[in-house]
Amino acid sequence: MSSATTAETGHISIHAENILPIIKRWLYSDKEIFIRELVANATDAMTKVQKLKVLGEVKREIDDAKITVVIDKEAKTLTISDNGLGMTSDEIKKYINQVAFSGVKDFVAKYQDKADDQQIIGHFGLGFYSAYMVASKVEIDTLSYQEGATPAHWECEGSTEFKLSGGKRTTVGTDIILHIAEDSLEMLDDWKVRELLERYCAFIRYPIELAGNVVNDPNPIWTKSPSQLTDKDYLDFFHKVFPGSPDPLFWIHLNVDHPFNLKGVLYFPKVRHEFDATQGQVKLFCNQVFVADNCKELTPEFLTLLKGVIDCPDLPLNVSRSYLQTDPTVRKISEHIVKKVADRLTGMAKTELESFKKYWDDIHPFVKFGMLRDSKFYDRMIEHVLFKTAKDDYLTLDQYLERNKEKTDSTIVYASDSQAQAGIISMLTSESVDVILAETLIDNHFLPYVEMHSQRKYKFSRVDSDITKHLKDQSTTEIVDPTDNKKPSEKLDEIFRKHLSKQNVKVKVEAFKSPTLPGMLMVDESIRRLKDMTRLSTTGKDDNPWADEHTLVINQNNPAIKTLLSLAKGLNKDEDLKMAVDYVYDLAYLQQGKFTAEMMQQFVDRSTKLLAKMG
Ligand code: ADP
Ligand code: MG
Repeated sequence: MSSATTAETGHISIHAENILPIIKRWLYSDKEIFIRELVANATDAMTKVQKLKVLGEVKREIDDAKITVVIDKEAKTLTISDNGLGMTSDEIKKYINQVAFSGVKDFVAKYQDKADDQQIIGHFGLGFYSAYMVASKVEIDTLSYQEGATPAHWECEGSTEFKLSGGKRTTVGTDIILHIAEDSLEMLDDWKVRELLERYCAFIRYPIELAGNVVNDPNPIWTKSPSQLTDKDYLDFFHKVFPGSPDPLFWIHLNVDHPFNLKGVLYFPKVRHEFDATQGQVKLFCNQVFVADNCKELTPEFLTLLKGVIDCPDLPLNVSRSYLQTDPTVRKISEHIVKKVADRLTGMAKTELESFKKYWDDIHPFVKFGMLRDSKFYDRMIEHVLFKTAKDDYLTLDQYLERNKEKTDSTIVYASDSQAQAGIISMLTSESVDVILAETLIDNHFLPYVEMHSQRKYKFSRVDSDITKHLKDQSTTEIVDPTDNKKPSEKLDEIFRKHLSKQNVKVKVEAFKSPTLPGMLMVDESIRRLKDMTRLSTTGKDDNPWADEHTLVINQNNPAIKTLLSLAKGLNKDEDLKMAVDYVYDLAYLQQGKFTAEMMQQFVDRSTKLLAKMG
């Protein structure tokens, strides 16, 4: 054990003389992280001495673990003090002059040619020497816990030259005194320093005192067990960490010891726009030391909406983006998170179904997106996926089949636009056929995927595909008209074929149980899907050959259709008939909700003419 009683000067063992200015220039944009590095070092030193104390290896008095930050505006210094294990002058030579500096050297060697890559630089901490990002000179005043050690003092002005001498510190621990450089004088501002401590050191496990106030929370919720915590604790924590966000829907408390260490709380936020998942934010900590603000690498793409904190002591504190992208631990963490999210969701579906239904409208796009992306997640979620029905019920796919098997031939009937399709929907629901709502963008992909993945155990048909069988009135018997020997359906068929202006439309006459709708357009489910796909891929241009391949289904039980039939008996009524037939088509078309400007114009013209005829 040696002590520095006589002053000593020397050279930090390094060849490149200009390393510090280089660091300073490179790290300028993120220079604030010096505070995290110095506080982390203080924390390490205190953890170590506490351990040694337990082992009975500390003979000296140790003050309670605490970090003190003191600003001296006149002297232009910022001092960070701890009651950690301290250093002897030999240890300073070893850890500060050699070890820490070689870390800096490695950094320079590795990133010299990547000076513009802010991401790498910003996330590569430099430990002790990061102090030179804001200081023109740094002093260390330290007293080691070791018996017989004498206080040591080190100072260095950011060149490779240092001074080592006896120090003045009387209690075990270390002061790091930063002489703030002219271009960083804001680091002498209480408010600024407080803000930085709150940003980078909010959950350091020992109290940090600034101007007599403790600025951090040494026991954040992720260090506690869920049984100690109330909903309010989780919500308060959320609002503290993510101010200005609305209450989250629910949360997942992570606590893993094996095969890696991981603690954290992830919140499912309320998201207002379907794909507005970019709002998520997972803050990464390493033993309560802040590492990075928005760790997209830790969560799979479909869960980037999550907000929360993760503490992973297995990841290095000075972690770079590129490291995160390739590290196998990070991948395992991400998989673990998916598993936990699935556990939470399935658990909720099993034991808190009412909450699950309540959250479903908010979370379903993410659940579906996740199922499309991750087949393990799909397998776990498929039996719990809910669909809202037109009657505001929520059904799983199996429940749907159970309730509608007979009525729909084991097909799941869905609406893609409940407003436009309201007429058909109400005809179906009045026949107690459940109609599920699949109205969001993701459903276009999700339904076909589920069909394929379930080997067509689940088949979907849109309300306007050929589902008329569920609506047909089997009891209607047609009376042949003795004057022309034809059934009404035959006559209607002729009238519509003859007068309908629209080309390429097939006509079919049915008798529906409900008289409400005069007609509806039906499109074969598979042709329509093909059409939807082509439309998506041809930038909205509707130029494929199936574009108009649909059937106008006429409801002969509808009063307007009956009127039309009797109108046909009159002479010279062709013009009126044509208008009425086209009008029925318009009404049917409207239920798809997609009038073109031209069709709208014609519809208004026809409506006006019809009104004029009333008088
Ligand atoms: P790291 O923390 O990754 O080891 P640093 O450059 O931050 O690298 O620190 C270098 C070394 O200096 C530390 O490992 C430690 O031995 C010593 N050290 C730095 N700060 C303190 C402190 N406040 N108290 C005791 N030792 C310290
Ligand atoms: Mg360090």
